[in-house]
Amino acid sequence: MSHRQSLLDLALVRLDEAAQHLQVDADVIEKLKYPRETTKVRLMIRMDDGSRKSFLAWRCRYDDTRGPTKGGIRFHPDSNEDEVETLAFWMTFKCAVMNLPYGGGKGAVSVDPRSLSKAELERLSRSYIQAFARIVGPDRDIPAPDVYTNSMIMGWMADEYSQIVGEASPAVITGKPIALGGSVGRQDATARGGYYLVRDLATELGLEGRTRVAVQGFGNAGQYIASLLASDGNVIVAVSDSSGAVYSPDGLDIDLLLQAKAENKSVASTAGKSGHQAISAEDLIAVDADLLVPAALESMIHEGNAENVKAKVILELANGPVTPEADAILARKGVTILPDILANAGGVTVSYFEWVQNKQGYAWALEEVHERLRTIMVREGRAIWEIAQDKNVSWRTAAYVHALARLAAAIEAHGTQS
Ligand code: GLU
Repeated sequence: MSHRQSLLDLALVRLDEAAQHLQVDADVIEKLKYPRETTKVRLMIRMDDGSRKSFLAWRCRYDDTRGPTKGGIRFHPDSNEDEVETLAFWMTFKCAVMNLPYGGGKGAVSVDPRSLSKAELERLSRSYIQAFARIVGPDRDIPAPDVYTNSMIMGWMADEYSQIVGEASPAVITGKPIALGGSVGRQDATARGGYYLVRDLATELGLEGRTRVAVQGFGNAGQYIASLLASDGNVIVAVSDSSGAVYSPDGLDIDLLLQAKAENKSVASTAGKSGHQAISAEDLIAVDADLLVPAALESMIHEGNAENVKAKVILELANGPVTPEADAILARKGVTILPDILANAGGVTVSYFEWVQNKQGYAWALEEVHERLRTIMVREGRAIWEIAQDKNVSWRTAAYVHALARLAAAIEAHGTQS
């Protein structure tokens, strides 16, 4: 009987790899191999037509050794417990990579939010917090946006939480609207962190000069990375979303693409305008580019298509976009991968800034947010690059080694009988 590996099993391969390059106690690995707690709830909401509908929802607190658990809430029809736990595992390592005083968590609702009205979406968001009010908390577990959730949803959730606890508690959730204590610079933080990494470590990455970029996924992360890289004179040659893709060797018209998305249309709707050619979403991976930016969902680059990648560098703005099998193929091809737990950590880093500002009751200026983000991205990126050189391992293994060292130190400091 063949045993299908779970997503978490695949993610744990990276922990095993890191453990081979670091002296860590077996206790540490035993602690990090399993999620600490996962709560599953069936949410019931009233639909606009008067009927009642139910949706499965989860919140996982994977590990809280380094601080309160932190991580987004995803609304997606394919969300499931394994995915939530894996995303929470990645958050644990991501927060450790960036040295943020957090553990890792994640939440999800199995729903296609595009099928709900705005009022239904608000009721669903509020019911999530009603169900998980005892699990989340500003010093316990701090949600944020993820795939198909945004600042509006975080605003409803923050409001619901403060009604339940009977006092303002903005630090319970990050990625809020600015009007409710959100931070400037949170909106584009995931992309901006990745942008600082490729810009300021261009020499280490061999990416100097005008870079040709392909972006897979044109949501929050994909749209901002395309704009940021294009504004520096790089050329965005291809982008895709869940309905299709477009290509132009001379560079796509970013404003045209942003306009299509603002009108809830696919990037493919721009084909035929400004020299945009329609290609299949699968073709995007094989486009002739220097930099490939997966900014959609996990396992998009796998055993079956990794061989087709032409880019020299991959910037993982999505969580888990490259499978371990694809890693091996890409390594053989000499492709450098900036791993998710570093590459997309700008989002949670500015979430941390938001939480700090909420706790202090003081709002920073945009320049301060940008400069602090850049400093941390470059500092941790360089440290990981040095580990990679020193141990002759990939950036991914180096990032896991870097995080594991911090996690191990914290687990050991908590005491051996804890
Ligand atoms: N959902 C984002 C991530 O996967 C951000 C999490 C946060 O800000 O807490 O990193």
